[in-house]
Amino acid sequence: MKIYITTDLEGVSGVVHPEHTAWDGRRHHEARRWMTEDVNAAVDAAVEMGATEVLVCDGHSSSRNIIISDLHPAATLIFGRSGRRLGQMEGLDESFDAVFQIGYHARVGTPSTLNHTTNSGVLTASTINGRPVGELDMNAVIAGEFGVPVAMASGDSAAMAEMQELCPWVETAVVKWPVGMYAAKVLSPAREQQLIREAVQRALRRLPEMKTVTVERPTTLELTFKDTALADAAYLMPGTVRTSHYAVAFTGADIFEAYRAHFVMIALAAREQWHTVA
Ligand SMILES: [Zn+2]
Repeated sequence: MKIYITTDLEGVSGVVHPEHTAWDGRRHHEARRWMTEDVNAAVDAAVEMGATEVLVCDGHSSSRNIIISDLHPAATLIFGRSGRRLGQMEGLDESFDAVFQIGYHARVGTPSTLNHTTNSGVLTASTINGRPVGELDMNAVIAGEFGVPVAMASGDSAAMAEMQELCPWVETAVVKWPVGMYAAKVLSPAREQQLIREAVQRALRRLPEMKTVTVERPTTLELTFKDTALADAAYLMPGTVRTSHYAVAFTGADIFEAYRAHFVMIALAAREQWHTVA
């Protein structure tokens, strides 16, 4: 049994502020230790349940968060960002039996602690074929295109509600309850890891019941930007359609093409923001 684990940072229990999530944040060192321990709990539970291979993908920001010297020895890790074509799902293919999403937040504009989608600096909404999506959803769609089900997820209560709306079969570990954008009711890491272990055990016992997400082809990914200058920049990309003053869409042959295009549009907008913000 092969397990793929994608991990983010904003949905880890003690993480409530950019000082935890920014690369130069004062408390990033603490947050990355909690993230590593959460991933290790999931790896350990998966191995106990019969996993023969576990691939972990560090999916937050620069994707160099997990503390390698503490990584569970049964896991291998996708580490670092450049050259990725599948973002937080790099390394996944049809040979895997299940995906776990650890430490995730809900989409931008929801009452989830540290809510955002892909780039908090430039985007106010993302949709796939007209349906609003966050990172949890986009990752599930990519997994589905490979025929692999999302079986387990962890994050705050809003993120887990979002996950179950799209994939009602997913076993979730709610490890944080939002109070506001930068505040939440949180757990000790030990309790959090126990909940993650239990969710992995439940998920792998129920693996035959897990389903995959399907999406129609061709696949349209539309991005709404914070201001029209950012949309102007994204609209430079060939093949895009300007759907409003604030929004740009790209239709790909499949989700893989649309997903790569969305990263290019975001990169163009981020570059524009870099030039215009004094
Ligand atoms: Zn994220």
